[in-house]
Amino acid sequence: MGEKTGRRKFLRRTVLGTAATVAATGMTWAGTGDRTGKDKEDKKGKLIMRRLGKTDIVIPIVSMGVMRADNPNLVKAALDKGIRLLDTAYVYQGGRNEEMLGKLLKDYPRNAYYIETKIKPDGYNKKKGDFTDGALVKRSYREKFNTSMKRLGIEYVDVLFLHAINSRAATQNKAVLEVMQEIKKEGRTRYLGVSTHSNEPEVIRAAIETGVYDVVLVAYNYRQNHKDEIAKAFEEAAKAGVGVIAMKTMAGGKKPKEGPSVSAATALKWAMQNEHVATAIPGFTSFDQLDEDMTVARDLTLSSEEKQLLSLARHEETFYCDGCMQCLDQCRHELPIPDLMRAYMYTYGYRETKKARDLLDELAVTPDICASCADCTVSCTKGFAVADKIRDVTRLREVPEEFLT
Ligand code: SF4
Ligand code: SF4
Repeated sequence: MGEKTGRRKFLRRTVLGTAATVAATGMTWAGTGDRTGKDKEDKKGKLIMRRLGKTDIVIPIVSMGVMRADNPNLVKAALDKGIRLLDTAYVYQGGRNEEMLGKLLKDYPRNAYYIETKIKPDGYNKKKGDFTDGALVKRSYREKFNTSMKRLGIEYVDVLFLHAINSRAATQNKAVLEVMQEIKKEGRTRYLGVSTHSNEPEVIRAAIETGVYDVVLVAYNYRQNHKDEIAKAFEEAAKAGVGVIAMKTMAGGKKPKEGPSVSAATALKWAMQNEHVATAIPGFTSFDQLDEDMTVARDLTLSSEEKQLLSLARHEETFYCDGCMQCLDQCRHELPIPDLMRAYMYTYGYRETKKARDLLDELAVTPDICASCADCTVSCTKGFAVADKIRDVTRLREVPEEFLT
């Protein structure tokens, strides 16, 4: 038996063995918790559990978006409190996010947590909204995946995503689907997924059509104008057995103006009221925020005050771009405006200039990109002055790294 064949068989046995144990017993591990999330926190009330589509992953409705966390003790505390799914990506913190997790997870048995990572291959053609060089896609996806696995120091991930695309074409790209399925066959991921920050209904439906994706990870919050359309697509995903994970539930973080506002916990409750959403991945960065989110994981009841704030907040000014894509054809230079608005939100809503800079570097937009237009031809459905925001946020590309937060 060749080394590769032996390893594949071993991995398949390990993965299938794990799955069977979960299905049969709800998993047992006598550490700080188990994958069911039933742990010492039970005295505070049961965590609400949901299954992720047709996978064997049954998890609390609150998971951890690790992307902004750089304190391993926060991840450890999250696992101690019953969180079981950790979400990271190849690009987060320039790779340090996966490295931090890799160091921490050495102390945990592999069946104590679920982990997902996300990769966007090179060769994305913004004008076509698709990847155009199949060979490059396959090579770069695999190279990035290998790097991610090395950083994480594990044999397999639970869900491997195509990261941050927003079109049917990219979701169904032949080379992407081939390389992801190859990795799954090798036993290096148990499930496949696709993530998007915009155009969610189209991406969800495209994912269902492929029959390849097990999971979709999408922006979902009370501020989205098209949230009803997204909810319809969630229903279709549920019928097809595709699991749904929500992100961006807090809808852009801090408001542009002061005053009473919807808290992150209330926003999370709103999103998780939709039972087709298996879990959310709030990106908490403090122990207090973790505690607040764990309270939501046990009780989704909205108080009358929370309901009132939610209904008022729908008309408030916000940093959150709906991702409706209506602006794309209007820009003379075909700029990726929703992504640029996301960078703006990271900067002013989340106060995370490093993350915004990483995104801007990925988009490769120069600070003077809007300078050649005497007037802006874009009319945003949310009324954003997009050119002003782009001019403002792209200046970050010239700020030395040490000044970024
Ligand atoms: S000003 Fe900027 S956003 Fe507006 S059309 Fe020109 S390049 Fe596009
Ligand atoms: S039109 Fe406005 S809300 Fe819609 S994607 Fe463009 S910037 Fe975002």
